[in-house]
Amino acid sequence: MNDHSVIHTEKLTKHYGKVKAVVDLNLDIQAGEIFGFLGPNGAGKTTTIRTILDEIRPTSGQASILGMDTHEKAVEIRRYIGYLPGDLAMYPNLTGKDTITYFANLRGGVDWSFVDLLANRLDADLTGKIGDLSSGNRQKVGLIQAFMNKPKVLIMDEPSSGLDPLIQRELQGMMREVAGEGNTVFLSSHSLSEVQRVADRVGIIRHGKLVVVEKVSELRSKAMRRIELDFDTPVEAAFFKSIPGVLDISINNHQAILSYDGKMEILLRAVMDQYDLLDIHTQEADLEEIFLTYYRDKEA
Ligand code: ATP
Repeated sequence: MNDHSVIHTEKLTKHYGKVKAVVDLNLDIQAGEIFGFLGPNGAGKTTTIRTILDEIRPTSGQASILGMDTHEKAVEIRRYIGYLPGDLAMYPNLTGKDTITYFANLRGGVDWSFVDLLANRLDADLTGKIGDLSSGNRQKVGLIQAFMNKPKVLIMDEPSSGLDPLIQRELQGMMREVAGEGNTVFLSSHSLSEVQRVADRVGIIRHGKLVVVEKVSELRSKAMRRIELDFDTPVEAAFFKSIPGVLDISINNHQAILSYDGKMEILLRAVMDQYDLLDIHTQEADLEEIFLTYYRDKEA
C-alpha cells in the first residue's frame, strides 16, 4: 500500500449471487485529490462506495481510509468522513433544519454558522418539510450534511443529481476548496463533463472492473473528438488522412469534419502549417466514445 493513500482498496470484490458487481478493485487516492469515479448505470459505483464504507461486506479484498481498515475501525473512521449516499434516507415530516440537527446530533454537534454558509451557497431551503421539497432541494440538504463537519474525506454518490447548472458549479467550487485544504474528495458520477470540470484523476469502472485510472488532463487529450475545421480555401481529404489519429474525414469544399484521437496541439500544428484556418468547432467526446477508445486500444 502507498503510505500516503487516504483511500486504499486491495482486490476489493463484491458479488451478489451471480452478479459480479465489483471485481478486484485496486484504488489509491491521495490527500488533496479530487477523484472522479466514472461509469454507466449499473457499473458498480454505488457498490464500491458502500463496500469501502463497510455498509456492505465485500466478498473478498479489503479497504482502508486514512490508514485504518474500514471494517475494523468503522466507527472511528466515520468521524473523518462526510458522505452523501445516492439515496439518502430522510424523514419526510422533518424540516431541512431538523434534518441537519438530526445528522449533527449523530456527530456530536455542528458549527451552525458554517451550516448557514453552506445553505446560502447552495441556495438551500431549510425551512420546508423534506417531504415537500423537490428532489434538487432534498439533495442540497444531503450535501450540507456531507460538508458540514469539514471532513477529511468527502465521499459523494452522484452529488449533482437534480441540481441546476448554477448550483452544480457552486458545488464544484466547494469540492475544490475542500481538496485545496488538503482533504480528499471521492466523487462518483456518470457525467463525464462534471468529472472533467472538477476532478484531478478519474477511474472508469465498467461491469465492476476498473478499466482505467488516469489524470483527467491525459484522458481529455486521448479522448476522441469530433472536429469541424473551416478554411479560406478548398481542402484535400488526403492531407487530413496523413495526420496520425485522424479518422472518418468528410470534406465539404472549405470545410473538413473529422474524428480525432490524439493531442489537439499536434493536429492544429499540422493543419495550420498547410492551410489558413478560419474557424474550429469541437465536440467533446462523450463517455461512450472514451470507453470505445479504450476498448479499441486494448484490443489493438
Ligand atoms: P447507478 O449509476 O445506476 O447507480 P452503479 O454504478 O452505482 O449504477 P451498482 O448500483 O453498484 O452500480 O450496481 C452494480 C451491479 O450490482 C448491478 O448489476 C446491480 O444490478 C447489482 N446490484 C447492486 N445492488 C444489488 C443488490 N442489493 N442485490 C443484487 N444485485 C445488486
